[in-house]
Amino acid sequence: MRGRFAPSPTGYMHLGNAWTAFLCWLQVRQAGGTLVLRIEDNDEQRSKPVFRSALLEDLHWLGLQWDEGPDIGGTYGPYCQQKRYDLYNAALEQLQRQEQLYPCYCSRSRLQAIGAPHAGEHSIYDGHCYTLTPEERHGMTKKPSWRIHVPSQTITFTDGIYGVQKSYLPTSCGDFVVRRADDMYAYQLAVSVDDGSMGITHVLRGRDLLSSTAQQIWLISLLGYTPPVYTHVPMLVDEHGFRLSKRQHGLTIRQMRDESVTSETILSYLAWQGGLVSEPRVYSLDELVHQCDLTKLGRDDIVIVPNSIKTWNSAS
Ligand code: GLU
Repeated sequence: MRGRFAPSPTGYMHLGNAWTAFLCWLQVRQAGGTLVLRIEDNDEQRSKPVFRSALLEDLHWLGLQWDEGPDIGGTYGPYCQQKRYDLYNAALEQLQRQEQLYPCYCSRSRLQAIGAPHAGEHSIYDGHCYTLTPEERHGMTKKPSWRIHVPSQTITFTDGIYGVQKSYLPTSCGDFVVRRADDMYAYQLAVSVDDGSMGITHVLRGRDLLSSTAQQIWLISLLGYTPPVYTHVPMLVDEHGFRLSKRQHGLTIRQMRDESVTSETILSYLAWQGGLVSEPRVYSLDELVHQCDLTKLGRDDIVIVPNSIKTWNSAS
């Protein structure tokens, strides 16, 4: 069993990231598998070296030790996406040879105009550039992005928490971008190449990525790899139902550490909030591995009242 935690170094680690990291670690440790740490820094504008080192430091401090990663190496490296561009180039060439890709010259404003009316819904591309003739393509001056054409196919998979999922590719994701016009690889391509080529058998991550899974399963298979088994976990939200984000101060792991909250307290608090343990108390890492019951995890978002960890800390 090979699991992975794949954070993006775009901010300081907060309770929401610690929640998914903890569950990845727990799933792998309970199964006696190998945990891979992969830094998803393919978004070069948003990723910062300072956040990358803070991430490693915070994960070490939490005690969520990994078996392969950027600092310790391993046979499936490199473990940072910025060092894996050769693999993405090769995958792009393979998809080009398989005649799955086409250049897309659509402007941002056209994409916005055909986009979903409400923010948050992802828009489905209308296939405009798929139908261009070779002559029309030849006449284009703009640098294109590259899209992959999805077939009329339904992908079915069983998620560890959310159960059977069926997704008809043309209406669930449509033809999606694999390489942007600025030469950056899209998350969907990078993550599929990485999970496939790193031999990942189990993916555990936030529910926000459940809707991307069908296209990744399809792409991983197309690249010739075996797709992993997926478990999406409920998100941590504040009392207004908003996801805990890196912008919310006071909930970063380093801030809690500076306020003398221990790492065992943070993980035990998360285990208690997620319903994984039977008593609200501080557990050691070893106890957490042996006593947390992942089958107790529900589907609903988990409401975290800001600063409740501090009162929980002193009460427990
Ligand atoms: N890098 C993504 C994030 O930090 C996670 C991607 C994944 O787990 O597939 O949100």
